[in-house]
Amino acid sequence: MAKEEILECSFCGRKKAETDLLIAGLDAHICDKCIEQAHGIVLEEVADGKSDNLSLEIELKKPVEIKAFIDQYMIGQTDAKRVMSVAVYNHYKRLLQKKKKDDDDEIEIEKSNMIIVGETGTGKTLIARTIARMLNVPFAIVDATVLTEAGYVGEDVETILTRLLQAADYNVEKAQRGIVFIDEVDKIARKGDNPSITRDVSGEGVQQALLKLLEGTIVNVPPKGGRKHPDQKFVEVDTTNILFIAGGAFSGIDKVISKRLNRQAVGYSASISTDKVDDENLLQYVLPTDLKSFGLIPEIIGRLPVLTHMNPLDEETLRAILTEPKNSLVKQYLKLFEMDDITLSFDEKALHFIVEKAVEYKLGARGLRSLCEAILTDGMFELPGTDVKELQITKKYAEAKISKAKIKQLKAVS
Ligand code: ADP
Repeated sequence: MAKEEILECSFCGRKKAETDLLIAGLDAHICDKCIEQAHGIVLEEVADGKSDNLSLEIELKKPVEIKAFIDQYMIGQTDAKRVMSVAVYNHYKRLLQKKKKDDDDEIEIEKSNMIIVGETGTGKTLIARTIARMLNVPFAIVDATVLTEAGYVGEDVETILTRLLQAADYNVEKAQRGIVFIDEVDKIARKGDNPSITRDVSGEGVQQALLKLLEGTIVNVPPKGGRKHPDQKFVEVDTTNILFIAGGAFSGIDKVISKRLNRQAVGYSASISTDKVDDENLLQYVLPTDLKSFGLIPEIIGRLPVLTHMNPLDEETLRAILTEPKNSLVKQYLKLFEMDDITLSFDEKALHFIVEKAVEYKLGARGLRSLCEAILTDGMFELPGTDVKELQITKKYAEAKISKAKIKQLKAVS
């Protein structure tokens, strides 16, 4: 048709013949080149919008709201939630201040890196992960036990940032606002003041290496991590705005705390009288000096200024953990069965039985999952594809499945 010969891109004016593709709209046409260009513009705009999100979000989320968000995923631990909500709020206020900063005499807000003391399985990782989820920032978990001083077998501290880069899909900007959870930080405590140990490879040296990272510095990060890729190009990452949250069980620190409290109680400066001390949960009285006695060097303690604790999980909390959080274990299993059109339900007595077993086997919250798996695996294996459309977990059913499962195995899974 004659009309088709004069078709052209309504954006750049190219004739149809000069394009690879010309797409027709209602009253206009667009060529492949203009589509590409427009796509580029869209991507740029989206990226700009994202960086603005940061300030938006900080303005939106006040400490009370941060805590309310964590409450959806986590039961109890009110002290830790409050302390950490404030610390996160202050951390991001600090970032905003930096963004706005134009005169030099402003008060410099210091970083609010945190340290959480609490038995294993009490939710240290969960709270850090939940905060990252709320802020929509990259989150990396690193195990302090694999870190060593440069030159020793193990991972250099820089690889902490490799993980964060990976979590941020190698977007350096994003990684620089991320959160790093350093697990088992108690394992790099100085092993006593024994001068006969020639070199404390895993302990103090790593603490020293961590200092700069925590404080804020520019680090050359091997993007692929480790020392196995000697040819890789390093990426510069500024840690100034990265929030570090360290966690550890600090097993035995209760004795340090108890000793300190008793000493205080004897002296004139008794701040807590002995009869008020809750011996069941001494961690709630933890102070930076206890961490020092445990073997963290003062510089590290100084760079993790926000100190909080996790309470041990009692039966009531464990029971709530089973069903109440937004993505509680029970809700997850109901969903899994629902996908096979099977209605799963738990009797209250069965839930209590699971909690009792978790306490009895000293499995904590992490054990709840192993127990549920042991109870439900047969059902999850056998029922899909059959006519059975309902599974009710009674105490008897749960008991039978648990006694079938080997307790030893349960412990290994947790
Ligand atoms: P930690 O880091 O202290 O060893 P985690 O955060 O890994 O412990 O918790 C272990 C498991 O228990 C996780 O599956 C977590 O979801 C669950 N959990 C622990 N404490 C709570 C809590 N207070 N509320 C909800 N779930 C919890």
